[in-house]
Amino acid sequence: MNPIQMVDLKSQYLRIKPELDAAIQHVLDSTAFIQGSPVFEFEQQLSQYTGSKCVISCGNGTDALMAALLALGIGKGDEVITPAFTFVSTVEVIALLGATPVFVDVCEDTFNMDVHALEKAITAKTKAILPVHLYGQCADMEPVLNVAKKHNVKVIEDACQAVGAKYTFPDGTVKLAGTMGDIGCLSFFPSKNLGCYGDGGALMTQDADLAERLRAICKHGSKVKYHHQYVGFNSRLDTIQAAVLQVKLHHLDGFLNARKSAAYYYYKALKNVNWIELPEIKQNTTHTFHQFTLKVKEGKREALKQYLSEKSIPSMVYYPVPAHLQPAYHFLGYQEGDLPVSEQHSKEVLSLPMHTELSEDQLQYICQTIVNCPL
Ligand SMILES: *Cc1c(COP(=O)(O)O)cnc(C)c1O
Repeated sequence: MNPIQMVDLKSQYLRIKPELDAAIQHVLDSTAFIQGSPVFEFEQQLSQYTGSKCVISCGNGTDALMAALLALGIGKGDEVITPAFTFVSTVEVIALLGATPVFVDVCEDTFNMDVHALEKAITAKTKAILPVHLYGQCADMEPVLNVAKKHNVKVIEDACQAVGAKYTFPDGTVKLAGTMGDIGCLSFFPSKNLGCYGDGGALMTQDADLAERLRAICKHGSKVKYHHQYVGFNSRLDTIQAAVLQVKLHHLDGFLNARKSAAYYYYKALKNVNWIELPEIKQNTTHTFHQFTLKVKEGKREALKQYLSEKSIPSMVYYPVPAHLQPAYHFLGYQEGDLPVSEQHSKEVLSLPMHTELSEDQLQYICQTIVNCPL
C-alpha cells in the first residue's frame, strides 16, 4: 500500500502526465505566458461546463472575491453577511475594502450558512450576502436568493471548494455552484477539486455588463490600455495554468466521481461508529467532497487525530478557529458564545484524506483503523 496523503497530487499528475506535459510544452513553445490563447479557451470551456454565461479568469480565489466586492461597489460603511465558519479569504476581502463582515452561524448538519439567521442579520447597511459552499456542498441558495431579492442586496457565492456541485431549485431548475448569485468565485489552488499547478481563480456572472466591469477590475480597472475607468488591480491567470486547467477540466467529471466513490466508502464503512457524525448531504444539492469532514463527538477529536497520525494516516482540522474569534477580527467585537454552532464545529471537525487517487486498500486501512480505534 502506498503512503496515505491528505491530497495526492503526484499520482494524479503521473496518471495524466502526457496530456499535461504536452499542454505545458505548447505554452513554452509559444512564449505567450500572459493572456495567451489557452486562457480564453479555458474561460470558454469553463463557461460551457458550468452553464455560466460569462467567465473571467483571475489570479486566485481570494482575488476573485475581492474583484466581486469591488465590482459591486462595496466599501466603507457597507455590511456584507457571511458565515463565521469558513476559510479566512471570505472575510478578509470584506475587511480590506473597509466594509464590515457581519457573521451568521452555520447549520449543524451541513456546515453551511444558516438561512434562518440570515434575515435577522440584514440591516439598512447590508450590501451583499456572501454564502460559502463549504467542503463541496452547495449552501441552501433558494432562501438566500429570496432574502437578497426581498431586501435588494447582492449575492456573491464563494464556490472555491465546490466547482461542479449542483443545486436543484424547488421548480426543478438545476444550477451549478457559482452560477446562482450575482457573481460566483472559484479557486484553482492545486488541492482544489479543479486545481492548477500554481495559483488560479475565476469569476462567473450571468450579467454581461458586470462581466465587463469584472474583467476591467482584474486589469488595473482598464478596458482600453492605459485608460483606467475603475480602481482595479492586477490579477491574471497565467497561460501555463490555463493550459493545465484545460486538460484537467476535461477530467473533472472523472475526478468528482473518484471523490464521490471514496466518500461513499467512508459512509459505508464508518456508519456504525457512534462517536462519529458523518457529513449530511441535502436532497437539493450534490456534494463534490472537496473535503470529507466528519464530526468527532465526546471530545475525542484531538485523540483521534493523534491516533491516526501514529498509524500514518494524515487528517486535518478545517477550521480550528471560526472567523469571528480570530485575533485579526477581534475589532468587530464578537465574543465566544455568539455563534455557537460554528464554535462547536471548530472543536469537532476532522477531515479525512480525500483526493482522486485513494485506493481501496488505503480506504480500507483508514476505515478499519477508525473502527478499531480504542477511544
Ligand atoms: C481556497 C479558498 C479560497 C481562496 O482561494 P485562493 O485561490 O487560495 O485564494 C476562498 N474561499 C474558500 C472557501 C476556499 O476554500
